[in-house]
Amino acid sequence: KKRDPDQSLFIQTVTEVATSLGPLFAETDEYFFAFKHMLEPEQLYQFRVPWVDDSGRTRVQRGFRVQFSSALGPYKGGLRYHPSVGVDTIKFLGFEQIFKNALTTLNLGGGKGGSDFDPKGKSEAEIMRFCQSFMTALEPYIGPNRDVPAGDIGVGGREIGYLFGQYKRLNQGRFEGVLTGKSADWGGSYVRPEATGWGLVFFSEEAMKDLKGEKLKNKRCALSGSGNVAQFAAQQLLKLGAVPVTFSDSSGTIYEPDGFTVEKLDLLMEVKAVRGARLTDYAAKSPTSSYHAGARPWSVVDELDLAFPCATQNELEEQDAINLIKAGCIGVFEGANMPTTPGAVEILEAGGCVFGPAKAANAGGVAVSGLEMAQNAQMTQWTGDDVEKKLNAIMKDIYHQCADCAETYHDRTQIKEGANIAAFLKVAAALREQGAV
Ligand code: NDP
Repeated sequence: KKRDPDQSLFIQTVTEVATSLGPLFAETDEYFFAFKHMLEPEQLYQFRVPWVDDSGRTRVQRGFRVQFSSALGPYKGGLRYHPSVGVDTIKFLGFEQIFKNALTTLNLGGGKGGSDFDPKGKSEAEIMRFCQSFMTALEPYIGPNRDVPAGDIGVGGREIGYLFGQYKRLNQGRFEGVLTGKSADWGGSYVRPEATGWGLVFFSEEAMKDLKGEKLKNKRCALSGSGNVAQFAAQQLLKLGAVPVTFSDSSGTIYEPDGFTVEKLDLLMEVKAVRGARLTDYAAKSPTSSYHAGARPWSVVDELDLAFPCATQNELEEQDAINLIKAGCIGVFEGANMPTTPGAVEILEAGGCVFGPAKAANAGGVAVSGLEMAQNAQMTQWTGDDVEKKLNAIMKDIYHQCADCAETYHDRTQIKEGANIAAFLKVAAALREQGAV
């Protein structure tokens, strides 16, 4: 707090992890020093990204890449394009990423990056020019064995394509696994687009079975967000017989009281595939839905079993947690990064909710990114079925690492504590063995 008083998101995540690690700090000072070591990024780059808009005017954005930890492998983490992006956001996401990547059991370090560029309202050509300029600035710092970025909010397959094309142009055509989330037609992995959402549901399935003896079938599920993670989480929920009832965006919530069917989800995905589309466009096409301007799903649905926040940080606050418990919620699984505030987590856990923290529950995306790196290194491509099976196994494994560690140090239901401790122990051991602490 003294060093970075204005980095409230970073401080929030560090405080949360430090609190979980209390029992380790009491065991030996070594853990405390390793943790302090991890708080400083290995490198943090900030760069200027000039780009030309459609009227011919040159505009300037800020670009960032934090390379937080290479203890377990090359830096790995997404790029976010959103006006809120700055050092605080990137450090919070990069710090979380170290732990998440450790839980995947793959050799991945932690990093994150992005820009305050706002893709909303921009033309396709503007987005392409911005991505090219962003990569021109980022390229000196990345490489397939050094730092491998991927997508995040505002950066999907289309943007990864433009970034990859520019990387090749800057490197005499070198075609290598420097980014993940590439198209499956040219070096991408099957199931990467689906991986975070599907993985989130696999994780929740295992947690509900282990801690509550419950299946997902027929469970009413509220989801927030309506982007990559939310859409594919809903798809997997439907496959398992659960009933998604909401999506949201930064303007409001769409509610289908009888649930989204496969057809309704297809319609939503079709509507959202158009750049700039809003959920009001879906509402106009579905007479059974209701649209709630300015509201989050947590205050719209009065009867539900599970909640999956999949939009952004701090989108589920204390009053939302109270609403969820009242509505009958028995499990909350974080698709977004740090969507639940610390006060809300306390209320949910006290109310008997199973809580699946982001760094474990949404690790499916980076896990399949790791599998994409492995396929690129072998110059091969696995089938969708193969990747889905591996993803399912990884998510179950992550759940059991967290629950087992929670049981050793706290109690089995405290998955958040288990996730922080299990991941930290791996990174701390690597730091010690590499002579870093
Ligand atoms: P997308 O850009 O595809 O979708 C983001 C969604 O969240 C949109 O519906 C957007 O609505 C909504 N949203 C963004 N900001 C806000 C806000 N301030 N208030 C309310 N809604 C908001 O991103 P993703 O689905 O990829 O990412 C969602 C979350 O999941 C992020 O926290 C990301 O870090 C996390 N995540 C993503 C992974 C991935 O593989 N993509 C991997 C692991 C985590 P609108 O259109 O109005 O902005």
